[in-house]
Amino acid sequence: MKRIVKWCLCLLSVAIVVSCSTVAFTGRHRMLLYSNSEISSLSAQSYYEFMSTSAPSTNAVQTAMIRDVGNRLARALEKYLASKGQSNVLSDIKWEFYLVQSKQANAFCLPDGKVVFYEGIMPVLTTPDMIAVVMSHEMGHAIARHGNERMTQQTLTNLVGAVTGQIIEQKTSENGRAIFETAYTIGSQYGYLLPYSRKHELEADEIGLYIMAIAGFDINQAPLLWQRMADASTTQVPEALSTHPSDERRMKNLQKLIEKARKFAAEVR
Ligand SMILES: [Zn+2]
Repeated sequence: MKRIVKWCLCLLSVAIVVSCSTVAFTGRHRMLLYSNSEISSLSAQSYYEFMSTSAPSTNAVQTAMIRDVGNRLARALEKYLASKGQSNVLSDIKWEFYLVQSKQANAFCLPDGKVVFYEGIMPVLTTPDMIAVVMSHEMGHAIARHGNERMTQQTLTNLVGAVTGQIIEQKTSENGRAIFETAYTIGSQYGYLLPYSRKHELEADEIGLYIMAIAGFDINQAPLLWQRMADASTTQVPEALSTHPSDERRMKNLQKLIEKARKFAAEVR
């Protein structure tokens, strides 16, 4: 049994060394055990399951707004990263933007770049700049590979649990699909992703702000939108966006980053 524990620890050390990388735009170090293509194929499966129980919006104006804002952000981001020789940041991400029928005030992005907005969020997002705040935040999760990181953390937790128990239980052989489902519950029963960690939410806010700046949207709208959401008495708060951290903390964090975001805007001018 000791040999198995040693072997697992050795494997873990190798995994840590070979899978370390940094998050685009923020430079945070993180570990990813899954390949982008593995995550993308899992995410495509989840998307088709989700769409089989969801109807596309019949609101042509709002659908066009979602696609226009999404395409503008995506094009600017691709161009910017290409100019920096960093197109690999987007490998296995193919942006697609959808609006579906649902009263929920929500939006999510799958790791392969499929961004879904629910009709219920649209009354809160009255301008393209407001849509861009939420859209770029969601795209930020995909760019930072938060889904992969969450699956990696889950896998390591399982492995460490097995090693400390000195028993290689069935859970260590849990396949990628099961772990993906732990990280992404987007079935109609839930209708949205499980909440991201506070760290991932703040990082998606930061990356989102930079993408907005690069694409020429009004970055001042980002803290303003959180202000609007904080004012729950007059507006409906999107569940997926309000869980962590508090709106006030996000607002302050975004305000601190406005100057840095302006530098991104100046770079592409
Ligand atoms: Zn988020």
